[in-house]
Amino acid sequence: MKANSFILKLILSLSALTYAILSPTAAVATSSNKPNINESTTPSNDGKFTVIAHRGASGHLPEHTIPAKALAYGLGAHYLEQDLVMTKDNQLIVHHDLTLDATTNVAAIFPTKARADGHFYVIDFTLDELRQLSVHERKKDTGEMKYPARFNNSVTPFHLHTFEEELALIKSLNKTTCRNVGIYPEIKSPWFHHQHDKDISLAVLKALKTSGYLNKEDNVYVQSFDPNELQRIKQTLLPSLGMNIKLVQLIAYNDWHETKEKVNEQWHNYDYNWMFEVGGASKISSYADGIGPWFPMLIDDKLSPSTLLSNAKKAGLTIHPYTFRLEDTPQQFESFEQWLHYYTGTLGIDGIFTDQPDRALALANE
Ligand code: CA
Repeated sequence: MKANSFILKLILSLSALTYAILSPTAAVATSSNKPNINESTTPSNDGKFTVIAHRGASGHLPEHTIPAKALAYGLGAHYLEQDLVMTKDNQLIVHHDLTLDATTNVAAIFPTKARADGHFYVIDFTLDELRQLSVHERKKDTGEMKYPARFNNSVTPFHLHTFEEELALIKSLNKTTCRNVGIYPEIKSPWFHHQHDKDISLAVLKALKTSGYLNKEDNVYVQSFDPNELQRIKQTLLPSLGMNIKLVQLIAYNDWHETKEKVNEQWHNYDYNWMFEVGGASKISSYADGIGPWFPMLIDDKLSPSTLLSNAKKAGLTIHPYTFRLEDTPQQFESFEQWLHYYTGTLGIDGIFTDQPDRALALANE
């Protein structure tokens, strides 16, 4: 009897499975619920401004870990950001720094792999080696927590992951939740990768194409601080791949030494000054759809709109400043919320990068 009962249960299970597969109702329901990354970005953002989860919900969990991304997704962020760096064996990992020192235990696991400057570079490690590392909250050179009030325990495990793994996570969540959360990949220091004979931009675009991100209607912005590389992407790489996706020019000050360019076979610090001048934003709009300035660049001493902000609006550029971090709330504002409200309401910018997507979303969805 036991055997018969088992077989009966098996048949019933198989019947249910077959019904699910063959039933036109089930098929229609699946089809109509299927999220489509080709939809416009508008449906995913029904609030007043776009909330981009900066390195995930990095105010709550270690940045650029899968848990930080899943939390940001669950909190309702419109976009999840991925900073991308290439490994020795040409894999794209989701990691902010070119080095591993501040957020992993690399010095303990591979003590002999530091360069002469004392730093451990992602580009010197294979993916298999990187998978042996643990990730923790960002620390200063002194070993103290950069943001002392943030998540901090050495018990819960966190690890590095690839771009492909994160794209698969978001695609699967978009399917199960019937949402259309976007991605916001940043190509980190293309010049540094070129110096190591690596074409990171081409690798990122190929990964996007494989995942179905092809056109401006797709829910993706590709960002970079490197204007020469963005122009190469716009004029050469995208056309050669049959793609035309949205691009964002990140803006730095020269003394950050963020970007280098090769002039007469010599690498020089890139001069960003033209972007702040009249006509700068218009020039950016010839190859990019938006700008990602540091938030103070958008105002003058009296909190009025800067030349950059006025010109960017005139040029029709989308404006997504970075980074709205609770801990960095400027003294002029009484609260994080007042700070955000000033930028998204009074100044009328389109969206923000934030470490606290939950607090930003509470405002955006009011
Ligand atoms: Ca970034």
